[in-house]
Amino acid sequence: MHTYGRYDVALKSGKGAAAYDENGRKYIDVSSGIGVNSLGYSDDGWVKAVSEQAAKIQHISNYFYSEQSSNLAQKLCELTGLSKVCFGNSGAEANECAIKIARKYSFDKYGEGRNEIITLKNSFHGRTVTTLSATGQDVFHNYFFPFTGGFKYAEAGNIDSLKNTVSDKTCAVMLEVIQGEGGVIILDKDYVSELADFCRERDILLIADEVQTGIGRTGKLFGYQNYNISPDLVTSAKGLGGGLPIGVCMCSEKLADVMGPSSHGSTFGANPVVCAGANYVIDTVSGEKFLNAVNAKGEYLEAKLRKLDKVKNVRRMGLMVGIEIDGDAHEAAGKCVENGLLIITAKDVLRMLPPLNITEEEIDEAVEILDKTLKETE
Ligand SMILES: *Cc1c(COP(=O)(O)O)cnc(C)c1O
Repeated sequence: MHTYGRYDVALKSGKGAAAYDENGRKYIDVSSGIGVNSLGYSDDGWVKAVSEQAAKIQHISNYFYSEQSSNLAQKLCELTGLSKVCFGNSGAEANECAIKIARKYSFDKYGEGRNEIITLKNSFHGRTVTTLSATGQDVFHNYFFPFTGGFKYAEAGNIDSLKNTVSDKTCAVMLEVIQGEGGVIILDKDYVSELADFCRERDILLIADEVQTGIGRTGKLFGYQNYNISPDLVTSAKGLGGGLPIGVCMCSEKLADVMGPSSHGSTFGANPVVCAGANYVIDTVSGEKFLNAVNAKGEYLEAKLRKLDKVKNVRRMGLMVGIEIDGDAHEAAGKCVENGLLIITAKDVLRMLPPLNITEEEIDEAVEILDKTLKETE
């Protein structure tokens, strides 16, 4: 189905930040399959981890334990201080899980009726009927009626708007610390910590949607770790599997016992091959040295971008980059692809989510193609 406006390019192979089409033409990819290929294309260690696991045991159900999923759960808890994880296969599913946990926590403690979740305007939380509801953009609330009820929207960055939207029916607030699809909008630190304090005082759960900002993307393992907050629920997905489908919903000790047998499930969730890939990614990206390098590469990239005539502003944390240009971002992205640079957009900005292990040479190549392309669009 034509659910994406696809480019006329068929990619066949890749290594690092370079992809090759069926004619052998090279592209530098600063989109990573929308922030998924954390270690670039076909990283040697990742390929080994995944293929070895495929050769051992490829799938079990969640009625049994696997070393791969247990190890991954353990690592995620140790690295975040959270207590429990539930694995699924995508970001939207991870958010669905968080929404279910938030509502059940409130139901168990306060009874029926305290079930509203506040999200922020301009947010993006997924494509299922419920996560479309959670998404705070009117353009997503069309055609597929009836949508799931119980969502309210507050102005991002405006604490009064949040306070005015909270009521005795509110059970949770869900946010992205950087609104990715919304145009790489970085939330203000004071706003986020004030919001977190306000919620904690009222036993309103804070859900951090780290589907895009997680897994080293912002220079910390999770984006919220750049902020002075401890969310009750953290979801992640995109970059976690290094190219294999996985989503995770993690919760704090307070919520550890909310979900019991048969309250949630996923046939494919916690798949050992996928978890082998995720274990490799987490082992690689969670080290301080690696994360410092993400920040250093981000700074290097930003400095180069700011020198380009047509670049008006750069919004960036780690290697999550929004580029405001003088001109139409969608048109520019299309021309970049023609010139050998795979780049995406978010709202009216060009967006880069390069592999976290991109080299300075690959950054140079990418910026060179961008510069050339922007000059052509005079
Ligand atoms: C991509 C994204 C999602 C949806 O993830 P899928 O894997 O496409 O379901 C949810 N939230 C945020 C912040 C995202 O960037």
